[in-house]
Amino acid sequence: MANLNQKQASQSHNMRLVLDCLLCYIQRIANGEPSDIISGKPITGFLLSSGTSGGKLKILPANNKFFEDMAFIFALRSVIISKHIEGVQKGKAVMFYFTKAPSTTPSGLPVCPAIMSYLLSDNFKNRPANCFTSPDEVTSCPDNKQAMYCHLLCGLVKRDEVVSVAAVFAFSLVGAINFLENYWTEICSNIRSGHVSEWITDLSCRDAVTNILGGGNSKLADLIEEECQKESWKGIITRLWHKTKYIQCALTGQSAQYIPMLEFYSNNVPLISPNYASSETMFGVNVNPLCKPQNVSYTFMPTMSYFVFLLADEGSEGEIVDLANVKIGSYYEPLITNYSGLHRYRMGDILQVSGFYNNSPQFRFVRRKNMVLSVNLEVTTEEDILKALNHATLVLKNSDLLLMGLTSYSDISTLPGHYVFYWELKAKNINDTVKLDNKVMVKCCCTMEESFNEVYRKIRNRDGPIGALEIRVVRQGTFNSLMEFFISLGASPSQYKTPMCINSTEALAVLEQNVLARFLSDRSQPL
Ligand code: AMP
Repeated sequence: MANLNQKQASQSHNMRLVLDCLLCYIQRIANGEPSDIISGKPITGFLLSSGTSGGKLKILPANNKFFEDMAFIFALRSVIISKHIEGVQKGKAVMFYFTKAPSTTPSGLPVCPAIMSYLLSDNFKNRPANCFTSPDEVTSCPDNKQAMYCHLLCGLVKRDEVVSVAAVFAFSLVGAINFLENYWTEICSNIRSGHVSEWITDLSCRDAVTNILGGGNSKLADLIEEECQKESWKGIITRLWHKTKYIQCALTGQSAQYIPMLEFYSNNVPLISPNYASSETMFGVNVNPLCKPQNVSYTFMPTMSYFVFLLADEGSEGEIVDLANVKIGSYYEPLITNYSGLHRYRMGDILQVSGFYNNSPQFRFVRRKNMVLSVNLEVTTEEDILKALNHATLVLKNSDLLLMGLTSYSDISTLPGHYVFYWELKAKNINDTVKLDNKVMVKCCCTMEESFNEVYRKIRNRDGPIGALEIRVVRQGTFNSLMEFFISLGASPSQYKTPMCINSTEALAVLEQNVLARFLSDRSQPL
């Protein structure tokens, strides 16, 4: 054991040295040195990772290969989907893409989040057909509130052409529905009059949207009003966009928390989680798009980067294998050697091999490695939290409430320490207020505790080292404020995903300011 720990410690020390070293090479290029100090091909810009899953924003070197791969993956996923769902190629998608003002390095190279760099690249501008309801001027509007409003307005005006509603990660889709709840009367009034609201001040965005709006259309405005006025918003996506054949966004890992909400709003049209990608590299696609979102695997594309895998099975000793030698059922962390200077770079994602497509391995996304809760001996991973959450949402199912957002932290400021979950809840009926039933909420706390692993359950009792699990219900809109907080630190609006666990004091302060009620598990015996 001691040997293993020593080995792991030295491995992680070496990795840290490599990373620090890499960072100084990246900084030297950002400051104007030639890119051949790390890459054969010129570095044309830097990609800003979202920083919300790993906690820290990173800048990663990139060149055209990255955007070519991205364009290839996007084209491939469309082909795969159209193979499984008839008639989608002719329709359009309401796509919630967002950008923000780009920045540059001291040497003048652009620094942008990956999706945004792609949206600004020629690969996007010169795409063969515009399959989105929004004009590019909306997507490139740096004011995200104006962009969200215009995406919804254009999407509703073109509702007859819409076959899918999509975003990069599920959080943006849930955000769009919340936004629509607050703005549908104004959107309908714009559609009725043919005049875009004055607060849409981005001129190119405004002109492009005015063009799409054409003259007023009171028939369409009436129809949308009728749907939005209904008490329940169950199935609102498919009621407003009646030809929707699928919803598309990443729904695995931390985004899995949004599956029940999207099922509620979409009347169970297929939820497709199309690909697995990052600012470091594209990984692969979901070749079985109609499978349940809980069963998604991604088939790796061996040409995207050179992939090797660090075995992450319990008790493993840092064994590294290449793509051809991974074993079904085993857990791995991918190490990336890409075409823009990363060498055996640790991704921090844990994947499990679920099968093969021809000879290419397929991986299930399991969790972010560093997203864990722990107050004592126990370790509760992102996957454990999601499992517990699935059980708790079954308790909520019979209530009038929907869980719209969630995050957590290990509170060790008091003895014993305990897990704190922040929940944003919403009434299923749009005009109802959230009524919290103490019994239901305490049951949710207990159900989550019962779902955690054996170590947690054994040491969690009245006088033991883990205190009662707590749910703090926060005001509606809190998770949006949390996103704005992360975006103010540099996170990408298109790539944003709510972290499953938080330890930043500032981020926790955003949540604490909005706490409405607290509930504690009332279990006192070992579970
Ligand atoms: P970023 O570079 O900021 O876009 O973040 C990339 C990270 O997002 C990856 O390392 C994963 O942790 C996560 N991610 C990307 N795609 C997926 C997916 N399909 N399912 C789960 N997590 C994903």
